[in-house]
Amino acid sequence: MVPLNDMCPAPNCTVDIPTALEAERLCLKHYVEKAFQKLAAVTLDFQCGREIDDHAMQWLLAQVNFAVETLAQEDCKWDDQERSLLLELVLGVANLNESMRHSRMAVGRLR
Ligand SMILES: [Zn+2]
Repeated sequence: MVPLNDMCPAPNCTVDIPTALEAERLCLKHYVEKAFQKLAAVTLDFQCGREIDDHAMQWLLAQVNFAVETLAQEDCKWDDQERSLLLELVLGVANLNESMRHSRMAVGRLR
């Protein structure tokens, strides 16, 4: 296998990509940044009543699985701050998902 270029590609970032984030090819900080940006974008669309980017939402839900699995690993190397960022992401996506579910139910009742 060709070895990965392990360095995070974000500008001015020299942090190694952790094995857990090989698929995203980002260091944890920039991965979380990207995830929060997507979360903010989808949240805004939802709040403005715009159509939700389904692909972005699916990606966010997949990140919840990733974060939960990663946090559950005993050998996980994240420090406290990194863990709380991941948790914040999990909660943010869960809240958004829940709000969307409620609003779909509300729409259902109006019909
Ligand atoms: Zn980075």
